[in-house]
Amino acid sequence: MYSKMKEFLKSELDTLLEQKLYKHERIIESPQAAEITVNGKNVLNFCANNYLGLSSHPELIKAAHEMIDERGFGLSSVRFICGTQDIHKTLEKKVADFLGLEDSILFCSAFDANGAVFEPLFGSEDAIITDALNHASIIDGIRLSKAQRWVYKHADMRNIEEEDPATGKMLKGLEKCLIEANEKNCRFKVIATDGVFSMDGDIANLKDICDLADKYDALVMVDDSHSSGFMGKTGRGTHEYRDVMGRVDIITTTFGKALGGASGGCIAGHQEIIDWMRNKARPYLFSNTLAPSVVGATIKCLDILTASTYLRDKLEENTKKFRKEMTEAGFDIIPGEHPITPIMFGKYDNCSALAVEFANKMLEEGIYVIAFSFPVVPKGKDRIRVQISAAHEPEHIDKAVKAFIKVGKELKMI
Ligand SMILES: *Cc1c(COP(=O)(O)O)cnc(C)c1O
Repeated sequence: MYSKMKEFLKSELDTLLEQKLYKHERIIESPQAAEITVNGKNVLNFCANNYLGLSSHPELIKAAHEMIDERGFGLSSVRFICGTQDIHKTLEKKVADFLGLEDSILFCSAFDANGAVFEPLFGSEDAIITDALNHASIIDGIRLSKAQRWVYKHADMRNIEEEDPATGKMLKGLEKCLIEANEKNCRFKVIATDGVFSMDGDIANLKDICDLADKYDALVMVDDSHSSGFMGKTGRGTHEYRDVMGRVDIITTTFGKALGGASGGCIAGHQEIIDWMRNKARPYLFSNTLAPSVVGATIKCLDILTASTYLRDKLEENTKKFRKEMTEAGFDIIPGEHPITPIMFGKYDNCSALAVEFANKMLEEGIYVIAFSFPVVPKGKDRIRVQISAAHEPEHIDKAVKAFIKVGKELKMI
């Protein structure tokens, strides 16, 4: 009975190929690190979320091994039946302390945490106010709740409504959305935002968001997946960076990026919210518990980050160096402080093809970077998104900048 669907999918897949939207995966034949093996060739990796270089850190690997020996491979259970070990409670406590919140609850991914967080808290009499560029998992999580939804123009805090010249759609600022939600007498309101937006590496203006939340009696929820572990002076996240620790009500984050890079995530927040999640959150109640090895290594990760800011400091230095040298070389870079460094191609002819060609040539130079084009980013905003890591040594950054300059000259960009 598959034949009709087979034909349909084949034709759809062909269309993706023709439109160059088909996602081809490069195969890595080594652990995740600054230097990886791709197609038998050693290359420097500049596109991983391995911000702190912990993905293959010897201490995390050792902690994972030890936890397999001490607590086994898996638990074959959800948390509330027989899937909670002492180590799960330890990790929940450590994550909450690290983020500066009362308690936390573990999930198998941040995608699950975002899928879980809205539905138990917000019903049809409530309002969720969400940034237009929020991560797919926040969008899906909101869809799973029955709450009323307002989408505000990315990072726009104002009380305005204006037409988007590109689409003709009316766009609202955050304050405008809050006023409308108040006029509807919504019971609870929450502002949901990414802490850092992954395409531009821009950082949510949590100070203004928290001020507006206070003014209009709303909660604040931040997904800090691209920040936890390194943003802010001690790496606690964007709430530390923006000096609003204690003012954010709910933080979701991943252990799959800076915090070890394996998998898992959490919701952290006020005690009652976390208790409610343990009783009501569906991806928690109906999905297996986090594997002991991942729990053990993530505990070790938080211990390392709490003991010293060395790794986040090194990441900050690396990021400054790369951004400075690339700007001096004449590349068009979105300014900022995040290790996500987008090199923009919009001002050149044929920018989509150029970005792809550039990335291919960089691989020949031994540098692994990825080009992003429409529909992942808006038309004309084609880019190569570089991600800096604390695993990089200054020589690695030098080599990458050199390769960028060589290829940039070859392609007559600089
Ligand atoms: C990566 C990411 C996620 C998903 O994290 P996983 O733990 O891999 O599911 C969720 N939200 C944001 C903002 C992310 O960047």
